[in-house]
Amino acid sequence: APRPFDAIILGAGGAGLMCAAIAGQRGRRVLVIDHAPEPGRKILISGGGRCNFTNVHTAPDRYLSANPHFARSALARYTPRDFLDLVEKHRIAWHEKTLGQLFCDGSARQIVAMLLEECRAGGVTLGLDAPVRNVTHADALFRVEAGSWTAEAPALVIATGGPSIPKLGATGFAYDLARQFGLKVVEPRPALVPLTLGGDEALFRELSGVAAPVEARCGKAAFREAALFTHKGLSGPAILQVSSYWKRGQAVAIDFLPQAPAGWLREAKRQRPKAKLASVLGEQLPSRLADTLAERIALAAELGNAPDKALDSAEQRLSAWEFQPNGSEGFAKAEVTAGGISTAELSQQTMEAKKLPGLHVIGEAVDVTGWLGGYNFQWAWASGVAAAQAL
Ligand code: FAD
Repeated sequence: APRPFDAIILGAGGAGLMCAAIAGQRGRRVLVIDHAPEPGRKILISGGGRCNFTNVHTAPDRYLSANPHFARSALARYTPRDFLDLVEKHRIAWHEKTLGQLFCDGSARQIVAMLLEECRAGGVTLGLDAPVRNVTHADALFRVEAGSWTAEAPALVIATGGPSIPKLGATGFAYDLARQFGLKVVEPRPALVPLTLGGDEALFRELSGVAAPVEARCGKAAFREAALFTHKGLSGPAILQVSSYWKRGQAVAIDFLPQAPAGWLREAKRQRPKAKLASVLGEQLPSRLADTLAERIALAAELGNAPDKALDSAEQRLSAWEFQPNGSEGFAKAEVTAGGISTAELSQQTMEAKKLPGLHVIGEAVDVTGWLGGYNFQWAWASGVAAAQAL
């Protein structure tokens, strides 16, 4: 006979473990199922092994979703301060890096250990190494067959994340379940992902390894962070950020000198008429990048010989250099998946499916995707707590 629980959670990642711990501590009998042999693999590799576990600037406008208001309720009810309280209760040392990003001083392992400890305190049962074979729903009960488990519960939580980085065990299983239960899925796409350059722009790949602080823009999105040239194209935080907004065919504009005041190049001409563009640029940018940009702008040899109009158009080009990425490095390299189970199907208070009471969806599986910088984990925690409070 199937073993009875109050809730079965599929996926022992950040969202699933948080949800399990809170539900367990509220007295619910909880089973967490995962096909991986260990829980929280993405937590372990996150933030370069130190886990950027939240961001103090968390707000709904730092998330992409077909419904930009959907995340508001869960994020308001479980804040970065709430997660930090938990981190401090477990005496995990942390620091703020840049842009509100909080990291462990030690290791991401501490975050997984903390979540497991909280699960233990809630009497949660973990079923690892348990690939899900079958999920059914009848008579208001969900039945799950996974590994050696057959379990039943009135509530099922989908927390299996998205398909980014399949070699870590990531799958699109959440979408299969969504289809099985008739929930719409917003087309999943790789996000926080390096972009690739081809054609004439492939020449920029020769700059592989060069980084510079820029402003990258795509549509209305703009991010001032570092950009990095790679042997395939463009990466670095500024590019990863705009990649979440980028659609095939769109240009990405890079301002290579976001701090420079308007007219700076005319000013440089007046002060140093003998200087060349490459050397002026080289004072503010890595020299290989400065050379490449100057080569492409192809001004007259010395600034003093260039007409002001030519300087203005050079300055304009440097402030909005248009790249036409021909693709991205895909799910294999994407830090997250944008799109996912449609928010229109879910209650924003409880993450419960409107069509099927008892079914909840949390974390990356939902069509809510955060910026780079700890926002995705904050969504995992907050959506997990929102569901747990309703179980
Ligand atoms: P996941 O953590 O992906 O958990 C899903 C779980 O479900 C996994 O344990 C998986 O094994 C299991 N599963 C999947 N399919 C099945 C199946 N068919 N059957 C059974 N189990 C299944 N975000 C930040 O906020 N800060 C960071 O520093 C950060 N760094 C990152 C670094 C990298 C390299 C990557 C890839 C991502 C990073 N992210 C970061 C994003 C963050 O890891 C995710 O947004 C977050 O882990 C999502 O949590 P989740 O619980 O929804 O899904």
